[in-house]
Amino acid sequence: MTTETKFGVHNPTRTTRYASKFMARGYEVEDSSWVNDLTDSLIINDSYHIHIPNAEVNNYDDEEFAHFVLSPYDTDLCQEDTDNSQVIPTFDEVMYALENPHRKFKCDGMLWNDGDIPTCSYCKKDFDKVDSLHETPYSGGLCCDDAKCRERLLESCLMSEVTEQ
Ligand SMILES: [Zn+2]
Repeated sequence: MTTETKFGVHNPTRTTRYASKFMARGYEVEDSSWVNDLTDSLIINDSYHIHIPNAEVNNYDDEEFAHFVLSPYDTDLCQEDTDNSQVIPTFDEVMYALENPHRKFKCDGMLWNDGDIPTCSYCKKDFDKVDSLHETPYSGGLCCDDAKCRERLLESCLMSEVTEQ
C-alpha cells in the first residue's frame, strides 16, 4: 500500500508510531521504506538503518516479521551487510543498541571480543582516552602515544645490558 503520509510505504500507522518514538528520544528520523520490498524502514541520525516489524509474530512463509533489524547506515542502501546487522526483538532493546553502539576494533595481530575496548597495557587508559594505541611485540600488549608508556615499552624491549668481559 502506498500512501501520502510522511512515514511508511507498507504500514504507515505502525511506522509512524515507531518514528514518533524515536523522535521523542531526540533522534532524527527519515523514511527509507521505498528501498524495501517487505518491511518499512527508517534511517536514524544518518547512522543506522532500521527495519520496522510488519507483524505481531514471525511468519516467514507469509513474509511477516515481528522483529527489528538494525544495521549501520550505508549510503548504498541496496548493499546488505549481514555481518553488521542485528536482529532485535523489542523496541526497548533497539534503544539500548542505539545508545550502546556495537564497536569493533582491529590491528595486525590482535582480536577483541565484542564489547571489549582496547586498553594501553601501561597506563590502562582505554581507546577513547588516548590519541592512538599501537600493538607491541608482546602478546596482547598495547601501548598508547604517551611518552611515559613508550618509555616503559622501550625498557621492556631492551634485553640484557652489554658489559665488558
Ligand atoms: Zn598508555
